[in-house]
Amino acid sequence: MRLVTYAVEGGAPRLGVMQGERDVLDVERASHNNLPSDMIAFLSGGEASMDGLRKTIEIGAPMLAERRDELLANGLVVALGQPGVGLLAPVPRPGKVLAIGLNYRDHAEETNAEIPERPVVFAKMPTCIVGTGAEVHLPKVSTSLDWEGELCVVIGTAGLHIKGDDAMRYVAGFCNGNDLSVRDWQFHAPTWVMGKGFDTHGPIGPWLVTREEAGDFENLEISTYVNDERVQHSNTSQLIFGIGAIVEYLSAAFTLEPGDVIFTGTPSGVGVARKPPRFLKASDVVRVEISGLGVLENRVVPEP
Ligand code: ZN
Repeated sequence: MRLVTYAVEGGAPRLGVMQGERDVLDVERASHNNLPSDMIAFLSGGEASMDGLRKTIEIGAPMLAERRDELLANGLVVALGQPGVGLLAPVPRPGKVLAIGLNYRDHAEETNAEIPERPVVFAKMPTCIVGTGAEVHLPKVSTSLDWEGELCVVIGTAGLHIKGDDAMRYVAGFCNGNDLSVRDWQFHAPTWVMGKGFDTHGPIGPWLVTREEAGDFENLEISTYVNDERVQHSNTSQLIFGIGAIVEYLSAAFTLEPGDVIFTGTPSGVGVARKPPRFLKASDVVRVEISGLGVLENRVVPEP
């Protein structure tokens, strides 16, 4: 299933599930209010939520095929591309946004960093999260804005001391992410935090692909484009620390909770490692595409 958070005319965020390429079935309405309209509340319901949604789709999909106009008229379905309908980040405000640095060998090498012995963990701010189509800000205080296309993991079940082999039971699914980085601010301090959490610098989406539908998540092609030029290209098989190892390491210290997002690291091809370095400019469009996870696209604008 491809789960989305959407809004109509800037209204309250609502939970939906994609049907085909453009139709979004509203989860709360289609389930007769048995399921919530908030992603974190939905994920917190665990397998009961997922089962409830599968049943809702079983009933809703044939209705959509037969009576699409009626469903559109009564708000059970909205269509992407319809005026006023927009996708937000699948989890608009995660409790935690964690990220792993230097997790592809070629990226560690291009930045002249040692291959890490343990996951290099840093945090992004929950307020940096935006969805596909959102404008991302070229900061007032920097001209060193860089892209980092990444596979993101969304936690579905709370857990502490999760074993790596068991990690998938705690993962709801996956999405594209762009770990936008303000390079000069990143290196103000060894924690990297200031350069990683500017508002709008955590695009994720367009949707959360549930784990059973994501296929072999350890063998997904990942590409980043700037204005249609491919600048990063790799495969999640190249991760130094896989998702199981990351989840085990993080949850040894703190509880991972439904809706928490983990950026798993970026491959080589970032702007700062180029000679000369290349940074994003206003009106650049950055696109992250991981096989099976759709397209995450954001335009750079000067910070208002
Ligand atoms: Zn990153």
